[in-house]
Amino acid sequence: MRVNIDEIKEAGIDRRWDLPRETLDAIVAGDRAGWRASGGAHVEARFEKLDRRVFVKVKAAAELAGECSRCLAPIASRLPVAFELTLVPADEYEEKEQVAAGDKAHHPVAGSFDLAHAEEEAYTGKVVDLDPILREQVVLALPGYPVCQEGCKGLCSICGKNLNDGECGCDRKVPDPRWAGLAKVKLT
Ligand SMILES: [Zn+2]
Ligand SMILES: [Zn+2]
Repeated sequence: MRVNIDEIKEAGIDRRWDLPRETLDAIVAGDRAGWRASGGAHVEARFEKLDRRVFVKVKAAAELAGECSRCLAPIASRLPVAFELTLVPADEYEEKEQVAAGDKAHHPVAGSFDLAHAEEEAYTGKVVDLDPILREQVVLALPGYPVCQEGCKGLCSICGKNLNDGECGCDRKVPDPRWAGLAKVKLT
């Protein structure tokens, strides 16, 4: 989604769009947790402008399919992605970096926005492109160790049975080698 900053009037603008499933799939495919897109992602963004700074607020929901990291059961997830950031013209951005390096106490504050605490990205020209930022934020929102349910018992390490379906009867209380030494320590 590209927006020409001249289109952003005083009242701000809202944009809604859908990322196709293939696009979402390409974004999540590299993740270690093995997520896949089961559908697309619906995205809603609000743009406001103050001088040449553009404030963006994004809410998205991505339809994903994955696998429980403990029991390997399939998981369907509607992953919420939400973020806000300030897009700063590249020339101002560099200036500010230098100011920040020289004088840490000096933070620009404009209106109700405390720019010192907003996530900032630089942009050049008149067009801001949200796609690379959105890609990055979707990846950041992915749970690294997805579980099918809170408290999933996982698989038996001996027979592989799904312990959510009940106990298998295996004796899994094998002493952990890291604790074996401690067992020999006599408490006096
Ligand atoms: Zn599970
Ligand atoms: Zn077992």
